[in-house]
Amino acid sequence: MYKLSELNQICSKCNRCKLNEGRINVVFGEGNINTDLMFIGEGPGSNEDRLGRPFVGKAGNLLDKMLKAINLTRSEIYITNIVKCRPPGNRNPEESEIEKCLPYLRWQVKIIQPKIIVSLGSISAKVLIDDNIKITKDRGRIYKKGNIKFIPTLHPAYLLRNPSAKKDSWEDFKLISKTLKEIRSI
Ligand code: SF4
Repeated sequence: MYKLSELNQICSKCNRCKLNEGRINVVFGEGNINTDLMFIGEGPGSNEDRLGRPFVGKAGNLLDKMLKAINLTRSEIYITNIVKCRPPGNRNPEESEIEKCLPYLRWQVKIIQPKIIVSLGSISAKVLIDDNIKITKDRGRIYKKGNIKFIPTLHPAYLLRNPSAKKDSWEDFKLISKTLKEIRSI
């Protein structure tokens, strides 16, 4: 089994899909590898591509604030994306790109062994939980798959465009906090 650092090395040279052509950096993911809680978005944006880090810029700042509201910091979670390279013009990743990139995420999950995975945004929820999920309707509940509890919530970039949805997101974060406390008390 790979170590996470070895996987990161392999991923940093990846050309399995055409997203490698336009990227500045591969955004592998970062955070606490001993965590129970992983956050997974859909793909890097321009700031992430430039810095090689997930969820930086305005959406990242909002995510940090939401974590702080439930007494968490980035150092307590692991955060990554479905695809590790930026889709041009921030378009959605294509099915073939997702398929090529998913083995990295599967390895990350296998190594970290989170008990809760929070999917951020529609694409992440569809890929990780169920292709039929409608994120605005089906968010904020627990979907159990194997030993992992999946909680879909809205993407912070969506919340920046739709501030009125922040109240829904707050409900989801309360559920994340409650579920984490329950797991930690076992
Ligand atoms: S998106 Fe994933 S599969 Fe495609 S080049 Fe980047 S790391 Fe490789």
